[in-house]
Amino acid sequence: MEKKVFGVPSGPYQFQESSRFPGGYVEPFILNSSNIFFELEDKRPHREVDILNEHCKFLLKASRSMETRKLCSICGEAPVKFFFFLNYSIISKNLTCCGSEYCRQQLVLGRVGGLRAFHLESLRSFKKVKIRRDAEALFRWALKLKKSSSPEEIFKALTSGYFKKNPLATELIEKPIKKPEGEKVEKNEKNPLPIRPRNCSSARRRITAEKQLEMFPGTKIRPRD
Ligand SMILES: [Zn+2]
Repeated sequence: MEKKVFGVPSGPYQFQESSRFPGGYVEPFILNSSNIFFELEDKRPHREVDILNEHCKFLLKASRSMETRKLCSICGEAPVKFFFFLNYSIISKNLTCCGSEYCRQQLVLGRVGGLRAFHLESLRSFKKVKIRRDAEALFRWALKLKKSSSPEEIFKALTSGYFKKNPLATELIEKPIKKPEGEKVEKNEKNPLPIRPRNCSSARRRITAEKQLEMFPGTKIRPRD
């Protein structure tokens, strides 16, 4: 039986008809009801490879390189990378800054609270409804997205930075795994069905898994049927 690995998604994930959200997409949940997104991401996969779960994990990882589209409230020059969680209760677009040390220090100066980065992992801790909604609105603001943005727009906003940083990742985008050069399918004269060279699928899998690990250290590669 041929083994496959989870590829890099090239677009949003659509739920299957038999699922909890038939025909809907994962992406709109991220910045509108992030609690549901984290529920899907946290869920222990019940199949060997749960594509939905892997998709959520990929988005979390890719969002670490997410490109924001609003400028620092302090220097006004670089895109926002951090926001300040004032008194651990208030989130505001006026309390955001770029990645420079100076701007970060200025934002924190004389204030009580915590600095949080603009990537999806930061949303996870906001569990109470009011603050979670404020945080989701802040992310939509930073990415210039709307509540009604399409799944494609959201996917692109979250992953474009990742794909720029990892141009090779496009090679792993979900598509049939190509046969290595020189591999030929032979025909057996007595048996008209083509026969595969020995170990061909496991060799292909090993190459792909190694390549994936090299590009995404720490990735869990699970076989799927
Ligand atoms: Zn700045």
